[in-house]
Amino acid sequence: MQNERYDVKIHNKIQISKNTILLNFKFINNKDFEAFNFIAGQFIQIFFVIDGKEYRRSYSIANSPENFKQAHSLEIALSFVEHGKASELFAKAEIGTRIQIRGPFGLLTLPKAVSGNLIFIGTGTGLAPYRSMLQNLTADFLNNHSATIVSGFRYENEAIFQQEFNSNDNIKKIVCLSREVNIKSQHAVKGRVQHAIKLLALNHKTDTVYLCGNPNMIDDLLVYFKSLNFTSKQIKREKYIYSGH
Ligand SMILES: Cc1cc2nc3c(=O)[nH]c(=O)nc-3n(C[C@H](O)[C@H](O)[C@H](O)COP(=O)(O)OP(=O)(O)OC[C@H]3O[C@@H](n4cnc5c(N)ncnc54)[C@H](O)[C@@H]3O)c2cc1C
Repeated sequence: MQNERYDVKIHNKIQISKNTILLNFKFINNKDFEAFNFIAGQFIQIFFVIDGKEYRRSYSIANSPENFKQAHSLEIALSFVEHGKASELFAKAEIGTRIQIRGPFGLLTLPKAVSGNLIFIGTGTGLAPYRSMLQNLTADFLNNHSATIVSGFRYENEAIFQQEFNSNDNIKKIVCLSREVNIKSQHAVKGRVQHAIKLLALNHKTDTVYLCGNPNMIDDLLVYFKSLNFTSKQIKREKYIYSGH
């Protein structure tokens, strides 16, 4: 029931990088919690009121459906935008603050049948839907399919979810740092994800690529993958366009 709004409250708030917080919401009513179902990779809309005016923002769900049902809570990762309405609100919001959410929405989800490799490309909090999906993928699945996650951040101290991704030996990882001068992590490379992708051997007949986060990155890579003869069906994407009001 996508039009229905659910009352939730902030249950936990953790700083997970220099500019990102992980927010954990619990449903106020148990029947709403029971009714809320989503597929890994989808997003929610959040409603909040400032000075009598209501605002709406979208956020990817960062935990898996299984984790949501077990923990009774929904997670999102929010990267702070200076003077941003939601950013300022959630930076200050205390545990227990109530808001409304709606959803789930979105088609950035895993295919029912996977033929080839999966390549997950995300910048910043655009990695959140992959965290949800990867919490879902079984060891059995990963033994039979190759999954690569390409993460893009500006600086090393903005990186999120890397420990979790690294704990899964079945996933190949590439971390791109576009502005970092002094890279300390041995797994990270200097540059944008757009450049790192071009070094991968991809199969346009069988692979599926996922693009999430910065709209410019998605536009660039859409052109690139089309030039490699990937079909639209093989390029799944979610642009983090900001509403600007
Ligand atoms: C489908 C979808 C899923 C999304 N998922 C996430 C998510 O999981 N995590 C997340 O952090 N965000 C996500 N976003 C973006 C999110 O919805 C907000 O746009 C973002 O949090 C900024 O909101 P704000 O209210 O803080 O800033 P606003 O009040 O909307 O913006 C304030 C000012 O900052 C500018 N601005 C806003 N965002 C940016 C930016 N990223 N870079 C530069 N300038 C900016 C605006 O143009 C405006 O001038 C998603 C967007 C979409 C469409």
